[in-house]
Amino acid sequence: MAPHGGISYSDPIMRPEILFSLFTPVTSLAGVGPRIAKLIEKVAGERILDLFWHLPAGLIDRRFSPLIAEAMEGQIVTLTVTVGSHSKPQNRRQPYRVTCFDESGDISLVFFHAHTDYLEKTLPEGEVRVISGKIEFFNDTAQMNHPDHIVTVEDADSIKTVEPVFPLTAGLTTKTMGKAVRGALEYVPDLPEWINEPYRAARGWNDWKTSLLAAHHPQSLQDLEPATLARSRLAYDELLANQLALALVRKSLRRRPGRVTRGDQRLQRQVRESLPWPLTGAQERSVAEIVSDMAEPHRMLRLLQGDVGSGKTIVALLAMLNAVEEGRQAVLMAPTEILARQHYQSLKPLADAAGVRMEVLTGRDKGKPREAKLAELESGAIDILVGTHAVFQETVAFKDLAFAVIDEQHRFGVHQRLALSAKATEAAPDLLVMTATPIPRTLTLTAYGDMEVSRLDEKPPGRAPVDTRALPLERLDQVAEGVRRAVDDGARVYWVCPLVEESDLVDLAAAEERFAHLSGLMGDRVGLIHGRLKGPQKDAVMADFSSGKLDVLVATTVIEVGVDVPEATVMVIEHAERFGLAQLHQLRGRIGRGNRPGTCLLLYTNPLGETAKARIEIMRETEDGFLIAEKDLELRGAGEVLGTKQSGLPAFHLADLSVHADLLAAARDDAKLILEMEPELDGKRGPALRVLLYLFERDAAVSYLRSG
Ligand code: ADP
Ligand code: MG
Repeated sequence: MAPHGGISYSDPIMRPEILFSLFTPVTSLAGVGPRIAKLIEKVAGERILDLFWHLPAGLIDRRFSPLIAEAMEGQIVTLTVTVGSHSKPQNRRQPYRVTCFDESGDISLVFFHAHTDYLEKTLPEGEVRVISGKIEFFNDTAQMNHPDHIVTVEDADSIKTVEPVFPLTAGLTTKTMGKAVRGALEYVPDLPEWINEPYRAARGWNDWKTSLLAAHHPQSLQDLEPATLARSRLAYDELLANQLALALVRKSLRRRPGRVTRGDQRLQRQVRESLPWPLTGAQERSVAEIVSDMAEPHRMLRLLQGDVGSGKTIVALLAMLNAVEEGRQAVLMAPTEILARQHYQSLKPLADAAGVRMEVLTGRDKGKPREAKLAELESGAIDILVGTHAVFQETVAFKDLAFAVIDEQHRFGVHQRLALSAKATEAAPDLLVMTATPIPRTLTLTAYGDMEVSRLDEKPPGRAPVDTRALPLERLDQVAEGVRRAVDDGARVYWVCPLVEESDLVDLAAAEERFAHLSGLMGDRVGLIHGRLKGPQKDAVMADFSSGKLDVLVATTVIEVGVDVPEATVMVIEHAERFGLAQLHQLRGRIGRGNRPGTCLLLYTNPLGETAKARIEIMRETEDGFLIAEKDLELRGAGEVLGTKQSGLPAFHLADLSVHADLLAAARDDAKLILEMEPELDGKRGPALRVLLYLFERDAAVSYLRSG
């Protein structure tokens, strides 16, 4: 099994031949060497295919070709001129000028740091050339700085067009990128039609190749809209690949029959009685949904969504007890060692109260003790196992595993879910996936297919609200001073340093600097945790923060704060503008978990963009994760919701769910229909649909087909 998550790894062996060349590196394109390839990889990807998905974000219309005298300041024009004289610079600071003319007047072409040889070759005196670029006026003389194009009259047509403009990165020019994309597009193959013909016709869509090429050759600004026919079709293709892949996985999860698990409430009642508080309405509802699902003969696949602190753990425990009451076993899996141990510590007393045997198994269990645990698991002496992915190892065998909970935090993939199914001795275990990221309904569908969903949309009572404020980074000293005072009053503080995507070394440097700064103020009460620390080192720092030996924890990443320290009431987030809404929300969820009110300070740097401003505003207005998720979708489009890989959501290249939500619904229906008509993709549409899955690298799903 692949150790990483997701269903979008690509298997080169099974890939249809027609797609082979698309997966070759961009360096095989003319004009793309290793240096350019690095830059292209940054914005698009490293393979030819990645350039297909790199659609223009703007355009430059070069079709306007006036006489020099007719051109106006700031216009993009394509001029046909005769080259006059070259005037070379006298010193390095002066530009190189080439004066050109047509029947209406003169224009001066200006080049800084120019190579004389090059200019003499491209602009030979007395010859006619076609140039394109932006017109400027200087002392009433028309001028063009560094024309974008200089060609001969024969080649004029090649530049008198609408030129697409691509998302770029520093060092990469429109020209270079344009050339690479044009080169890539020469590889676009004719592919068989995978869309249902009546649907395609009703939508008025062209075939895939025509649509892709059209999307790459916009003629007007309207053509850049996501709702154009061409872009809609491409979005639909991507969504269909996504929905079909999920439907295949889901089908394979359901292939093995489930069985009826109907506990007698005995243990659940004991645990409920030992709780110091009643369940919330949302918790009751979710437990009821899960328990009644378990009582069905089909296999349960359910998602439990709820913010950090919404109380998912107890819901999971009650559901697991339902299986134990039947005399069967349950497993709870967390993505990290820390989280697994934390679950174990919080659940153990409750399990003990009900006389249920609970154990924890992680990668740290070794040798004899581990073997003893495994033996007890296999004999059925252990009722509930809590662990990390260590429980996926082949040596781990259950006596009768009936129920599995994956506390996902988006780190497990479908592969692990499947591996888990293999653990069950009799039938596949019922599966509950818990996620702390509230996801808008449309997005749930893209990440999980049509799994059943329970939502904890109500917080346990008595939670004090978090007071969220935004401050410019210039007030950092004041904030640090405020933190020092709060710490003197007994507060415990998270200080989150910015996430700089380019390099984790830069992240670390920023965090170390802040750590030094705060240590200067508060001495050894400040700790630092970051991604480069080893597991046990991390645990030690966390334990110190948890026990109160440390009062301030400077952290580089979101992950490291994925732990429960109810005493923490203050959070400072530096460069809050660099985090997505969902990330900010997740981070803030770490404080205000106890009954003392929390404070969250969002430090931002000016100038603040519109979206960043709106995000911070929303953070100040609400703590409702589901609402925040919906707002996030509205603000940024699905591609960016939750942004990073951590979200576990598929990243779409072409689909934008804030625009294409109706296409998602259609793709889901079509995927369902396809699997009813040809469950193994072995019918009429099968071959084309397989190509589609490979094209969008959802081909791991193909391996779930019996005929592979
Ligand atoms: P999640 O896993 O959803 O982030 P937890 O299950 O860790 O949340 O619960 C957060 C905290 O809330 C825990 O300390 C838990 O004991 C407490 N809690 C859970 N349910 C309730 C409830 N109904 N009333 C009061 N406190 C609750
Ligand atoms: Mg939890």
